[in-house]
Amino acid sequence: MTAVEERRLSAGVLVIGTGAAGLRAGIELAQAGVQVLCVGKRRRDDAHTVLAAGGINAALGTMDPEDSWQQHAADTLRESYWLADPRTVETLCREAPAAIDELVRWGAQFAREEDGRLTQRFFGAHTFRRTCFAGDYTGREIQLALVSRARELDVPIRDDVYITRLLVHDGRVFGAYGFNIDDGSRLVIIADAVILAAGGHTRIWRRSSSRRDENTGDSMRLAGDAGCRLRDMELVQFHPTGMVFPEESAGTLVTEAVRGEGGILRNARGERFMERYDPARLELSTRDRVALANYNEISEGRGTEHGGVLLDVTHLGRDTVLDRLPRMYRQFIDLAMLDITREPMEVAPTAHYSMGGVRVESVTHETDVEGLYAVGECASGVHGANRLGGNSLAECMVFGRIVGEEAARWSAALDLQVRDRTAIHDAAEEVDELLARRGDEFARPLQRAVRDLMTESCGVVRTEGGLREGLRQLDEVAERAQALEVRPDLAGYADLAHAMDLQGSLLAAQATLECALERRESRGAQARLDYPDTDPELAANLVWSLDGTISRETPSEASPEVAALAAGEVDLTGRLLE
Ligand SMILES: Cc1cc2nc3c(=O)[nH]c(=O)nc-3n(C[C@H](O)[C@H](O)[C@H](O)COP(=O)(O)OP(=O)(O)OC[C@H]3O[C@@H](n4cnc5c(N)ncnc54)[C@H](O)[C@@H]3O)c2cc1C
Repeated sequence: MTAVEERRLSAGVLVIGTGAAGLRAGIELAQAGVQVLCVGKRRRDDAHTVLAAGGINAALGTMDPEDSWQQHAADTLRESYWLADPRTVETLCREAPAAIDELVRWGAQFAREEDGRLTQRFFGAHTFRRTCFAGDYTGREIQLALVSRARELDVPIRDDVYITRLLVHDGRVFGAYGFNIDDGSRLVIIADAVILAAGGHTRIWRRSSSRRDENTGDSMRLAGDAGCRLRDMELVQFHPTGMVFPEESAGTLVTEAVRGEGGILRNARGERFMERYDPARLELSTRDRVALANYNEISEGRGTEHGGVLLDVTHLGRDTVLDRLPRMYRQFIDLAMLDITREPMEVAPTAHYSMGGVRVESVTHETDVEGLYAVGECASGVHGANRLGGNSLAECMVFGRIVGEEAARWSAALDLQVRDRTAIHDAAEEVDELLARRGDEFARPLQRAVRDLMTESCGVVRTEGGLREGLRQLDEVAERAQALEVRPDLAGYADLAHAMDLQGSLLAAQATLECALERRESRGAQARLDYPDTDPELAANLVWSLDGTISRETPSEASPEVAALAAGEVDLTGRLLE
């Protein structure tokens, strides 16, 4: 057993993750008078959510009064290639307007028209203008409003806790185990219920719009080890335009507003290649199609020196670029010393969003483990095979509130809580064992190996041979990880955190590769070179378990009014896509 200090904490409900989803859940619990504790592995005002740029969706009808939540749901379902859960989607769309009201009450400053109405703009594949925004800093604005509301309510939040394991007895969660990233002291947190809101797994690709050390698959490992099933892990959204150069900034997002404002894509030969892929919509085609087009141009040898294609806004004029795309102008000056008003940007697809994740019940977001809920990017159900931009922030808000209510109800009704000492002991041993390993491998290079193999074998385009090779290489990395040396030092326990991140990435990569193999078709974000058509038999969710089994679940029917609207066509001409 560990000799290091082990502190016990208790809470009615423990929330793991302090992005938008976790904070919204924490606020709900505090408002209901439940003793809540929120923990995160990085600063609450710098969670991944702050990167969100373009906006948050709700059918408010401020610009287009004919909009309705039913139309929002129809757009979301159709764009998901019919893999989203209709009940989840309908709940999201019905409740999203109330979420915007809350955010406004809590201080979020969204853009407004001169008469005071909230401005709403078009995002791709939406029938009406329904995206609220705060410049291109929407995520930051939302996160800060949530942090401020949580402060008002005195929600206890810790930014220095890395959760390594969920504590489960007989299929029921009773808390979580973790360590303090600064001093390595251990924490046993006992709770009636646990809400998992620890983000996705897109950092396991070489080019990713997430920052270092976030979205490393922690949620998937924590949930999988606890006994939860994962769903649709292969469905990962690749954004068509991430930076490719310089190397350390690879993947950083180039917002779709660039194409919305008239940016033109060209290959290294100067050809406007979207004319071949989608002559009607060109650069304003859907995200999955543009990503595939960019990928093809690069892989067929028409890419640039750094392995990208060119995205050009020089024809728009300096004033327009500075006025409409100020953040992009600054980003390229800061990161690449490139003036985008004079030279084109080099871009390539970047792993952007985990559409799959923990399998949850449609509305309550209960998982397979009693008392455990999953919410936000770590949960699956809203986006199916293609996410509509602006829906994730809405998802965090709507289902953050709902899981808060559900966990409060669970906690209030709980008669008995077994605190299984063996489970706590096993969790402690797992960390001890990692710290005791001696060898010549380190977490960062092994993470890099995972990212390389995922990029080569399970990127925008996949094949059976490539996926099998990816699994083979993953086994090798897992083997090498047995010789991992973890060296906490005076600066803290970041090295242990990286080692745990690696465990998360290994599990998330395995589930993704195995599900991608099993989905023998092309649908939305899953493009299989060897199965180029969509297979009606695979209009199903793939449900993965830790023992490697994958089963299929057919999504339920949408309500008749939503289904009827979803059958209609959407005219995308001239609309922003993000
Ligand atoms: C560049 C970019 C632009 C985007 N733009 C938009 C947009 O315009 N509109 C939109 O709707 N969506 C957008 N998204 C997506 C959206 O930002 C995310 O899906 C959303 O913010 C996820 O929030 P979350 O609360 O689920 O998780 P996160 O914000 O990722 O938070 C996860 C939390 O879990 C914690 N955590 C993780 N692992 C552990 C662990 N082991 N122990 C303890 N804590 C842990 C982290 O510290 C963090 O607090 C964008 C994403 C990117 C990358």
